[in-house]
Amino acid sequence: MNNLIADIDIISGEEAQACDFKTTVDENTGKTRKLYIESYGCAMNFADSEVVASIMKEGGYDTTSDFYQADAIFLNTCSIREKAEQTVRKRLTDFQRAKRAKPSLTIGVLGCMAERLKEKLLEEEKLVDIVVGPDAYRDLPNLLSVAEEGQKAVNTFLSREETYADISPVRLNSNGITAFISIMRGCDNMCSFCVVPFTRGRERSRDPHSIVAEAKDLFSKGYKEVTLLGQNVDSYKWSPEENNKARLNKKEEEVSTVVNFANLLEMVALVDPSLRIRFSTSHPKDITDEVLYTMKKYDNICKYIHLPAQSGNSRVLELMNRTYDREWYLERVSKIREILGEECGISSDMITGFCSETEEEHQDTLSLMDIVKFDFSYMFFYSERPGTLAAKKYVDDIPMEVKKRRLSEVIKKQSSSSLERNRLDLGKEQVILVEGASKKSADEFKGRNSANKVVIVPAGNYSKGDYLTVKITDCTPATLFGEVIEINPQL
Ligand code: SAM
Ligand code: SF4
Repeated sequence: MNNLIADIDIISGEEAQACDFKTTVDENTGKTRKLYIESYGCAMNFADSEVVASIMKEGGYDTTSDFYQADAIFLNTCSIREKAEQTVRKRLTDFQRAKRAKPSLTIGVLGCMAERLKEKLLEEEKLVDIVVGPDAYRDLPNLLSVAEEGQKAVNTFLSREETYADISPVRLNSNGITAFISIMRGCDNMCSFCVVPFTRGRERSRDPHSIVAEAKDLFSKGYKEVTLLGQNVDSYKWSPEENNKARLNKKEEEVSTVVNFANLLEMVALVDPSLRIRFSTSHPKDITDEVLYTMKKYDNICKYIHLPAQSGNSRVLELMNRTYDREWYLERVSKIREILGEECGISSDMITGFCSETEEEHQDTLSLMDIVKFDFSYMFFYSERPGTLAAKKYVDDIPMEVKKRRLSEVIKKQSSSSLERNRLDLGKEQVILVEGASKKSADEFKGRNSANKVVIVPAGNYSKGDYLTVKITDCTPATLFGEVIEINPQL
């Protein structure tokens, strides 16, 4: 789900490591202590850091963007690829001076790396005081007080029920216009390459009423776009019993499903027609026509689907345990095009050099990309993760230079598809939501169209949070450029 973080649309795993962390903004509500938090990896982690900041605020901490001012430094980590973990280990060394200057400083490693390595992390990284898994954030105040007494503390308990539904996140790094709402946690899929089921535990859906309440609250505060987050949003499923299934010890057939993902989308879409809804990530095996028809029904549900293919070859997909094949994937794409039209943005994640992938099978990935013409993709070479099904069952036998060469071919293919897709927008009028000034120039604003493409327009008599009708005049593979036709059109 990295797509929601980066500004650039074509990104390889290598690049992603360099740009996908965010630090805290300064918040001063008069608390006596300061928290500095950095988040790595997927959007889920960024949303979790906002829950952490909320729990810490209750515990007497404001946030700071200067780690030398902090009483606690947290790294909310990612384990998805080896490089992600190396980045965190390297980053920890930067805090040595701060710790020497203030011995009472608590350094915490949170999230997936904490869950994967548990106590081992304390042995390997002497600087670290507390290790906290993704379901244990409510325990942070307690763990901090243990650390303050000079002891190390670990809580990596994985829950079957925790959704943090009642916690109102403190928005970090917010542009005040777009926000993430976590709708579920964990993952019950067992993609053979993936560490997530082990680091984030079993899938559980959050009470839809708390999701709608969060969306309403954001809208009342001026936010104009929410992104509903889950590892596999299409398997969202909630009922009063479902939420407590483990506790009540009920069987699947005894549980009455009340709200599925299509229902949830509709509930959030009805908050207000001028609140845009996005979601991520969709799983090709689970995305339903009902979801597609719900997207079509509501103008404020953005016409964009992140639908990771991972590979274009059916044998490799089977080894990956993705539970769909090339034909199934292409059928889902045809259905998206049939119901939502050519304008709907589709993006993907791709992995090159998975165990035993042949040159021909790699060519199948390139040909799938040729057929679908993704608007953008996140592309990685395979990185074996300890404990995963692939690490146990298969040999990581593709040489690194081959993985990287295949990755560069996939990136090249994506770049030309992105340009081709963007060229289709030339001359069209589209509605964009202004997110703020463009990073490159104060004379330009940056917004996004429904298909999640960045559109740059000249600065004018409008500001972030405004909707604009723009005419697309130019493009690169990563960006559209437009001229403004109308400010705040009737939506
Ligand atoms: N839940 C999402 C899904 O099923 O598509 C994706 C979650 S994962 C955080 C984001 C992406 O990282 C995956 O889609 C996959 O492309 C990539 N990824 C996961 N494990 C990987 C590994 N071991 N090596 C390389 N890339 C990996
Ligand atoms: Fe990982 Fe697969 Fe779950 Fe995505 S769906 S988080 S790739 S196991």
